[in-house]
This record gives sequence, structure tokens and C-alpha cells, in this order.
Amino acid sequence: MKLKDNQFSIHWFRKDLRLNDNPSLNYLSKKKKNIVGIFIYDDVNCSRELGSASKVWLYNSLNNLNLKLENRLILFKGDPLAIFDNILNKYNIDEICWNRCYEPWVITRDTKIKAKLKNKTKINSFNSSLLWEPWEILKQDGTPYKIFTPFYKRGCLNYKPPRKPESSKVNFCEHNIKSMDLKDLIFTEKKDWEKNILLNWKTSEFEATRIKDQFFLKGIKDYSEGRNFPNRENVSRLSPYLHWGQISPNVLWYEIEEKVEEVSKDNIEIFKSELGWREFFYNLMYHYPSIREENLQPKFNIFPWEYNDFFLKSWQQGMTGYPIIDAGMRELWHTGYMHNRVRMITGSFLVKNLLLHWHHGEKWFWDCLFDADYASNSASWQWVAGTGTDSAPYFRIFNPITQSKKFDPEGEYIKKFVPELKTMPLKYLFEPWNCPETILKDSGIIMGQTYPNPIVDVKQSREKALSAFAKLKRVNVR
Ligand code: FAD
Repeated sequence: MKLKDNQFSIHWFRKDLRLNDNPSLNYLSKKKKNIVGIFIYDDVNCSRELGSASKVWLYNSLNNLNLKLENRLILFKGDPLAIFDNILNKYNIDEICWNRCYEPWVITRDTKIKAKLKNKTKINSFNSSLLWEPWEILKQDGTPYKIFTPFYKRGCLNYKPPRKPESSKVNFCEHNIKSMDLKDLIFTEKKDWEKNILLNWKTSEFEATRIKDQFFLKGIKDYSEGRNFPNRENVSRLSPYLHWGQISPNVLWYEIEEKVEEVSKDNIEIFKSELGWREFFYNLMYHYPSIREENLQPKFNIFPWEYNDFFLKSWQQGMTGYPIIDAGMRELWHTGYMHNRVRMITGSFLVKNLLLHWHHGEKWFWDCLFDADYASNSASWQWVAGTGTDSAPYFRIFNPITQSKKFDPEGEYIKKFVPELKTMPLKYLFEPWNCPETILKDSGIIMGQTYPNPIVDVKQSREKALSAFAKLKRVNVR
């Protein structure tokens, strides 16, 4: 179909970089509209720049999406309101549609766009990324849930079932709107690092479906137990695809029931409840829009966090002297992902053993994670720090040694990401500073040189944290 003076409709791609089960696209397709797909890199309204890893993911995903659209995806950079205003003046557009995002700054921006453009064209928005809208799941008294289990069991599971996935054939029409070059849209600079972190990932919608199918065939079979072990293949690694909307949670929610065979109910229910945690965090972000900046429990506002650049750098670089922490932080840096169990251990170490503010962790994860997500990252850091509404209690301090012995018993995960400890006998791998000199010599390891000595003592730092946190218990701050 050729488009010159014809009327057409815009689908504004945002965090829904897919064609399958895309409610806005389905709506336009059913109305047999001439559809034009656009993406806007909004560096004007955003409250924080995308992290480095997110930029890499987005760049490659848009490239893939554009190929799928036969080079018809239009790219813009700047303020969407100004961009739409300009397009509306030049072209005959009857409708602009998008799928909703829930970040506080996006809600503010979209509300303004709707108000300003409503007299110029029709505007429609849809839910493509959540199983339930955040305003739907509320307690009986109309207030938001603060605790996960009642939110999920009493709230979500008793509410109407999530939307069923749906597909329709989408045809994007030819157009004469000028698009930016992708390389001018998203500027990335750390070329070697970019190439390396992408080695194990393909960023397309097709790949999301392939990973899902593979996971439903194998990994899910031992999900309830295996998901705790960072070296096992029992987690899906779908989080970046879910974040960028290359797969919908609805597809996962229904297909796991319909397509997965010979898997105990337990594994399925736990996987669904993990999707529930994602919903919970979006719900929290919606009702507590300052979640990224402010402690959800204000009594933590006077907590005496420490400032220690050496600690922070050692943690970021995976050079703390605790092998499981260093393995996790290096997995993050080299792959753009970190296993959930290790996110909890490294997070707890930063906040409770090093006594550094959770903001430092949140920002570093934001920069390095492919799945960096405003809601899940902020809420998870508040969970780790104990400052959230439903959090790890302050006295729950993960011990990196016992955690690694339990969840990486053969040390495979550690050896994969901390190769300088490959020769260390398993007996000492979890606490190399206790390894006798002769064995260190035989293994070719020099503590303090080829591998760092621990930057803090876990027992002493634990006691210090416990007493600092216990003082807060007695403080009542409004
Ligand atoms: P699977 O176990 O296969 O789970 C399937 C999906 O369920 C995930 O893709 C994810 O969307 C959701 N999910 C699973 N576990 C959780 C959880 N605990 N909380 C919320 N959703 C969950 N997740 C992000 O998506 N983005 C983040 O920025 C992020 N930051 C985190 C920071 C910290 C400190 C911690 C402790 C956790 C963070 N998480 C974050 C949650 C969790 O670690 C990841 O969602 C999970 O590791 C993704 O791996 P997966 O896709 O293999 O998970």
C-alpha cells in the first residue's frame, strides 16, 4: 500500500517491541487502518537517562524490529508532544495509539500529550505489559496492598483473569516520513564492552519466543528448587524481553498452563507467582511514585549510611574478596544479567556489610542490567535494604560464605566468573583467605595479588549493621 496523502494511524512503540499479542496493534489492525510504526527516544522528559546496558539492548532491538517492519519503523528523538504536533500538521493522521507505561515521569508526560492533542486527533492507549492494571488491585478499603502475599493471593488471583493473548496480522504501510538513523538515535561508546555483553543474547521478539519455548520444555521442570542455584538452567532469563515487551506476561501466564506437560503444579504456580512479584512492584511504583528516591519506610531517612569509595568500587568491580559476591558482580558486568539469588546476596552485602546506601546499588544495577527496570529495580533494592513495604527484615543479612556453599556447592558459578580461583580446591573456594600457604602456592594464587583479601570481615560488619539497624527500631519518625 502506498501512502502519500492517504489517511493513516500511528502506533507508537515504547516498551512493547513486538508484533505478537500487542493490544494497540491488534486494535488498529482490526479497524483495517493504514498503520505507521514509530519509536521516540525521549531524552527530554525522562527522569533519568537509560543505563548503558539498556541502550545496547534497545539499539539492537530496534534494529531487529525495523527489519521485521521492512525498514518502515520511523525513529525520532526528543519531546513526543512536539514531534506529534509537527507530524499532525504535516500529515493526515486519524489516530495515535500506544501501550501504556507506568513510570511516574511517563504517566505525567502521556497525560499531558493526551490533553494537548485530544482536539487534533483520536488517541487511544492499552495495557500490554501487565497482567492487571495497578489501579485495579486494591485492598477492600480502596488502599494499595503493601505486602506481596495478600496482594497476589487475595488481590490478583481473586480479580478477573488477565487478558488472553491475541494476535492479528499487522501490515505497516509505506510512508514518506523521514526517520532518523539508529546510530544517531542511541549513542553508545564502550564498543568492546558492548560486543562482549551481547555475546550470549539475541534481542529480538523471535528470540524471546524461542527462549520461552525452550524454558517451558526443560528449565521449568525443576523451577521451584533449581531457580535458587545460579549455575543451573532453571530460570528463564526472560526479564529483559519482558521489560522491553518482546514477550508479554500474558503469553507466559496462559501458555505455561496450556502447553507445559509433565511438570508438577508447584513449579508452575511458583513461576506464575514470580510474575506476580513483577506486578506487585509495578503496583508499588504506581502508588508510591517516589519509590526510586525515597525510603518507603521513612524511619530509614536517618540511618547512618557510610561513604566509602573504595568499598563501592571494589563491589562494582567484583573485587571484594568474597568469591560469590565477585562472581555475581562480574556476571553482571560481562553479561548484563545477574541471577536473582546472587542479586539478593550482592545487594545484602552492599547495604548490610558495607553499610552503603541502597541508592548506590540501584544506580549501578540500572547502568549494567539488560533488564534494568524502574519498578523492579527500585522495589527490589528497597526489599534488600529493608526500607520497603514488604522487605527482608533488617536482621536478615545474607552470609556470602554459607550462601555460596548452599547454592553453588561445586563452585561452578564462582569458577566461571572468577577464573583466577579455578585452581583453588573446593574446600577453600568459598573462603580463600583460610587456605594454607602451601596449597595457595600449589594453586598459583597469591592472596592480595592474584585475588583480593576480603575488604571487610563478614562477622564484624554483620554485628555493626545489626546494632545500627536495631537502633532504628526504637526510633519513630513520621
Ligand atoms: P525467572 O525466574 O525466569 O522469572 C520469570 C520472570 O518473573 C522474570 O523475567 C521477571 O520478570 C519476573 N520475576 C522473577 N523474579 C522476580 C522478582 N524477585 N521480582 C520481580 N520480578 C521477578 N528484575 C527486573 O526485571 N529488573 C530489575 O531491574 C531488577 N532488579 C533487581 C535488583 C535486585 C537487587 C534484586 C534482588 C532483584 C531484581 N530484579 C529485577 C528481580 C529478579 O532478580 C529478576 O526479575 C530475575 O532475576 C530475572 O531473571 P529471570 O527472567 O531468569 O527470572
